[in-house]
Amino acid sequence: MATTEQGSAILARTGAEFLAGLAADGDREIWIGGECVANPLDHPLLRTGAEAIARVYDAQHAHAEVCLAPSPDDGRLVNRTHLIPRSREDLERRRASMEVISAVTGGMMGRVPDYLNVTFACFAGASEVWARRGNERGAANLVAYQRLMRDRDLSTTHAIMNPVADRSKPETEQLGGEIALHKVGETAEGIVVRGARMLATLAPFADEISVYPGSDLRPGDEAYALAFALPMSTPGLRFICRDSFAKPTSTFDYPLSARFDEMDAVVVFDDVVVPHDRVFLDGDVVGYSEVITDSGWRGHIMHQAFTRAYVKLLFAFGLGHVMAETTGVVRFDHIQEKLGQLWNMAELTRCALVACEADSYLDDHGVWYPHDRPLMALRGEMPKWLPRAHELLQLIGGGSFMATPSEADFNSPIRGDIEKYFMAGNADAERRVRLFRLAWDYIGSDLGGRSELYERFYLSDSWRMTQLAYRTADKTAAVDLVEQFLHD
Ligand SMILES: Cc1cc2nc3c(=O)[nH]c(=O)nc-3n(C[C@H](O)[C@H](O)[C@H](O)COP(=O)(O)OP(=O)(O)OC[C@H]3O[C@@H](n4cnc5c(N)ncnc54)[C@H](O)[C@@H]3O)c2cc1C
Repeated sequence: MATTEQGSAILARTGAEFLAGLAADGDREIWIGGECVANPLDHPLLRTGAEAIARVYDAQHAHAEVCLAPSPDDGRLVNRTHLIPRSREDLERRRASMEVISAVTGGMMGRVPDYLNVTFACFAGASEVWARRGNERGAANLVAYQRLMRDRDLSTTHAIMNPVADRSKPETEQLGGEIALHKVGETAEGIVVRGARMLATLAPFADEISVYPGSDLRPGDEAYALAFALPMSTPGLRFICRDSFAKPTSTFDYPLSARFDEMDAVVVFDDVVVPHDRVFLDGDVVGYSEVITDSGWRGHIMHQAFTRAYVKLLFAFGLGHVMAETTGVVRFDHIQEKLGQLWNMAELTRCALVACEADSYLDDHGVWYPHDRPLMALRGEMPKWLPRAHELLQLIGGGSFMATPSEADFNSPIRGDIEKYFMAGNADAERRVRLFRLAWDYIGSDLGGRSELYERFYLSDSWRMTQLAYRTADKTAAVDLVEQFLHD
């Protein structure tokens, strides 16, 4: 085990330790392009994503004073996002750590391990919610699992939605109830589950997959009320990936796609046995919604998600600003207004994060809760803001996105033409082309398109989340303002 210069033991993994873990776990069933891949490190289009996650693990050591903290159990150093927050300072320090990690990918990888670290820390902090209606064993399993995630510093994917077959019916009735993940039996070892879930982002680069509630169930749907976690190489687990958007050939040509395709997969559970000690919820349809609504998950996950969104908006602002300065369009009023819009979105996101920490409080479970009011206001807006950032960058960049010869062109006999005709007022040809290729990778490449879709849907859609913000809003002060004029 590694130690710090001061001699503290470190449980937080390095990139090399993460990659060694993947290399040793070569028995997965990951399908991509008609090929079954047992280990992502063996596939040229998957390897880059694994290497990006390795850089994330390295970053926590490079910024150890921000990202690592003593475990409450034994003082060994773990990633801060695994800790259950017990004070406002804990939330502030957690945000600083998540900012460092998000910056490694410019916010392009939404599901770095922080996402599930925060989720399971909050679930474990509210374990009594999981224990309701006689589920003490499931709750104890969950607490033990969160400690395992923390101490082994796992990379975890999750799949909480059932596949879309026919949204006009409840999920459990779609195609005879066979599509949605459900329990089909029980053995001495564990429960047996069948069906599918979507989407498991990061799946090829995860050590474990977790399943927890993501939709409503009704009485009678007990077989569908499941939460559990499994190693990725569990027999019967099959991951069906979309096309790879990784372009590992050149970081000049594809600065983001060459590095940061986090991959999305549908997961098929082909009569998978979930060991009893990995089952957190089994058959409680009421608990299925309560573990989301009553555990504090809403505030904690938005604290992580919007920290990453802040970094990504700041990246968009930086791209817009540098592009506009490079080509000189920054002198136009409407370009400055568009740059101002990008800055506004980033700054308002930062303000909401600061506000949620300023108003944070100790909740009924003894966990320090980031006040969800400013985060709820953002939750409906962010799926619109990040796509709007793509649109604003298009409007700032114009045709320059297409004046982007490749690295091979730079190394060809036409280099002289490129150096002459692709230079900008404030940059030589190479800098200008690199910049616009980077910005196109952010908004317009396969990866950029996927990124826009991700932002629209990864935390449910804007419409339902704005509706939820309205439904849960405290309306007292607003109504009082009206009422005072309705009576003489
Ligand atoms: C790139 C990407 C990565 C993702 N990663 C993950 C992941 O790692 N883990 C995970 O669990 N999930 C992940 N998701 C899935 C995400 O949780 C869902 O996409 C999201 O909840 C929306 O569900 P859906 O895709 O089934 O869309 P659908 O439900 O099919 O929605 C299609 C349209 O119908 C509308 N609609 C659907 N139902 C209703 C309704 N009841 N009322 C009103 N309108 C409705 C939607 O607003 C949308 O406009 C990811 C999604 C994307 C796009």
